[in-house]
Amino acid sequence: MPGFELFGAEERQEVADVMANGFTFRYNFDGMRNGRWKAAEMERMLQDRLQVRHAHLVSSGTAALQTALAASGIGAGDEVIVPPFTFVASVEAIVMAGAIPVFAEIDDTLCLSPEGIEAAITPRTRAVNLVHMCGSMGRIDQIKALCDRHGLMLLEDACQAIGGSYHGQPLGTLGQVGCFSFDSVKTISCGEGGAIVTQSETIYRNAHMFSDHGHDHLGNDRGAEGHPIMGLNFRISEMNAALGVAQLRKLDDILAIQRRHKTMIKSALADIDEIQFRHLPDPAGDNAGFLSFMLPTAARAVEINQKLGSAGVDGCFYWYGNNWHYLKNWQHIQQLKGPAKLPVALNSDLPDYRHIALPQSDHIMSRTLSLLIKLSWSEQAIAERIHHIRRAFGQN
Ligand SMILES: *Cc1c(COP(=O)(O)O)cnc(C)c1O
Repeated sequence: MPGFELFGAEERQEVADVMANGFTFRYNFDGMRNGRWKAAEMERMLQDRLQVRHAHLVSSGTAALQTALAASGIGAGDEVIVPPFTFVASVEAIVMAGAIPVFAEIDDTLCLSPEGIEAAITPRTRAVNLVHMCGSMGRIDQIKALCDRHGLMLLEDACQAIGGSYHGQPLGTLGQVGCFSFDSVKTISCGEGGAIVTQSETIYRNAHMFSDHGHDHLGNDRGAEGHPIMGLNFRISEMNAALGVAQLRKLDDILAIQRRHKTMIKSALADIDEIQFRHLPDPAGDNAGFLSFMLPTAARAVEINQKLGSAGVDGCFYWYGNNWHYLKNWQHIQQLKGPAKLPVALNSDLPDYRHIALPQSDHIMSRTLSLLIKLSWSEQAIAERIHHIRRAFGQN
C-alpha cells in the first residue's frame, strides 16, 4: 500500500517548484506563484482519474470525513452507521460532528454487511459510513439499494481504497460523497492530506467553505470574501499537494505492482485448505494493498501470526488484537458516556459502547489476518516470503 516507497525525483521536483515560489498557501496571492497551483492541479487530476465532478483537498483523511459530514448537514442527534473494523478516525469524525456512531455487523467482505446495516437503522439514521477496508469493497449493490430505499446518505470512507473500483466505477464515487487519505502510509501520499469527492455542487461548495473558516473563495481578495457558514482550518498546503501531484501520476503503476505482487502470493497459497480468502464482490476492482484471509479458529490465527512474525515476514496484521482498527480496543470510544471529555455536547441517549454486541464481526475479525503488499519487493523477496508463509502453515 505505501506510495512513499516510490518517492523519487518526481516528488522532489514538484516540492522544489513550490519552494522556488517560496510560497505555500493554496489560495490567492496570484502574483507570487508564477502560475503554480499544486492543490488545484491535484484536484483536477483527481476529478479526471475518478471521473467525478468535484474533488476538494483537505489536510487529512480525518478532516475529509469531518468536512463531508458537515458539508452534508449531518450533526447533532443524527445517527451514522459505521463498521467496528476500520481505522478509528471513521468513528471519531462522526463524534466530532456531534452525531452518534451506530455500529453494525461486517461480513466476509470485511466491510459492513447489508443485513447488519438494515438491522441498525432507526428513525434517526441519516447516513451509512461505508469503509472500503484494506482496499476492497462490500456488497455494493445491496448496500446502495437499501440506502436508497431508506433515504440514507451513502458516505464512502475510501481512505485505504484509492484506485479501487466496483464494476469499473471508482470506489469513493458510488455514494453521495467519498473521502480519501493521503497520509504517510497510504496508497499515495502527500505526507499528510485528504480529499472529498462528490457529484453534488452543494456538498462541494459547503466542503470548500467549511475546510477554510467558512471563506466563500469568490474573487481574488481574501480580505473581501464572505463567510456564509462556520468552518475550521482543514486546508492542505501547496507542499503537501505538490507531493500528491507526483504520487497521483504514479497511481496506475502502483496499482499494477500491487496487483502483480498480491496475485503471486495469493495463488501460491491457494492450495492451503484452512485459508479462506476475504470475499471480493468485484475482484478486478480490488486495489490490492493487502491480502486478507480467515482461518478456522481465533487460536489458529494468533498462532500463524506469531509464526509469521518469528519467521521475519513483516507487514502482518492481526487487527482484532491491535489498538487502532477494531472496536474492542477503542477505549476512548467505549468511554464516550463516561470519562472521555468531548468538546461537543453529545446526545444523552448515546449507546453504551462498552456493551455493543457484534458476534458476527468478532467471529470474523478474531480469525482474520492481513498481509501488507509492498511495492519495493524483488521477485526473490516475494519467493522467500511465499516460502516462509507456506512453512508457517506446515507446507513446503
Ligand atoms: C488512514 C485512514 C483514515 C484517516 O486518514 P488520515 O489522513 O490519517 O487522517 C480514515 N479512515 C481510514 C479507513 C483510514 O485508513
